[in-house]
Amino acid sequence: MIPQEFRYLRPASLDEAVAALADPGAKLLAGGQSLLPLMRLRFAAPDALVDLQDVAELKGVEVRGEELRIGALTRHVEVAGLDTWDALRGAAQQTGDRQVRRLGTIGGAVSHADPAGDLPAALLALGARAELVGPGGRRSVPLEEFFTGPLMTAATPGEVLESLFVPLPSGGSGSAYCKLAQDASGFALVGVAARLGLDKGGTCRMAGIGVTGVGFTPYRARAAEELLLGSRLTDADIEKAARAVLEDVEVAADAYASAEYRAEMCRLFTRRALAAALSKAQI
Ligand SMILES: Cc1cc2nc3c(=O)[nH]c(=O)nc-3n(C[C@H](O)[C@H](O)[C@H](O)COP(=O)(O)OP(=O)(O)OC[C@H]3O[C@@H](n4cnc5c(N)ncnc54)[C@H](O)[C@@H]3O)c2cc1C
Repeated sequence: MIPQEFRYLRPASLDEAVAALADPGAKLLAGGQSLLPLMRLRFAAPDALVDLQDVAELKGVEVRGEELRIGALTRHVEVAGLDTWDALRGAAQQTGDRQVRRLGTIGGAVSHADPAGDLPAALLALGARAELVGPGGRRSVPLEEFFTGPLMTAATPGEVLESLFVPLPSGGSGSAYCKLAQDASGFALVGVAARLGLDKGGTCRMAGIGVTGVGFTPYRARAAEELLLGSRLTDADIEKAARAVLEDVEVAADAYASAEYRAEMCRLFTRRALAAALSKAQI
């Protein structure tokens, strides 16, 4: 279908983008890989599209202090080439097909807040935060508080996601992303990202688990993480964490997977992601 007619704006700076977004009928356009299909189906019909591609402040990847700053306009293909965290690289590599990865952006994926989005799971496991800029200034939101419902976020209507900040790895840490993809679309039936940090004696001092495709938003599995902290990460410890990964989560059911199957796969993929993160942490 052809989208409804809209005005096309192309701001040259973040200030201009924020000003353009003051129009309640305006919507930001990044890679267009989620928004344009919605517009073609007329599930979205903005009066104006604010194309972010010339906004330099949203670009670039660099180390800032103890964090990696990833500009919101960074394409999936660029994230797939980063050598900091395997979970982040793996999630980007497993997002969509080559065309989607070349056009889609990390800021678009996080702002779209698809309950089955891959990058959100990795960012949650890594303890990332989002930096937003709007008419009221700049603010930082832990990603754990960012996803408020299916396709809903903590960003207010006038705010632009400027960048994502991911803590840098320290010694003895490893991460992984494991995904069970739906055959037709490639979206996650279940996706689990895990991050582990070990002290010199091999005890777990840091644990992060991000889950996608299972609940109504990507989420961080805090109860499972807490069971790992202070443990030796034996098979039995990992099993206990896998059993806790669905605590307080209403597991989704749809035409592709029953809630029971999803729950079983979620536990299995949690074991796999934790085992893979552990093997990397020991290298
Ligand atoms: C065929 C296909 C397969 C796909 N497969 C997968 C998959 O396997 N896994 C997966 O996770 N995703 C998948 N996707 C989605 C893809 O990852 C999108 O790229 C991503 O969800 C949105 O990024 P974008 O840059 O294209 O955003 P856009 O489509 O441009 O925008 C998406 C939404 O975010 C808002 N937005 C964009 N940038 C900002 C910003 N900086 N600040 C605030 N709001 C902003 C827009 O207004 C819009 O509401 C697939 C998409 C397609 C078309």
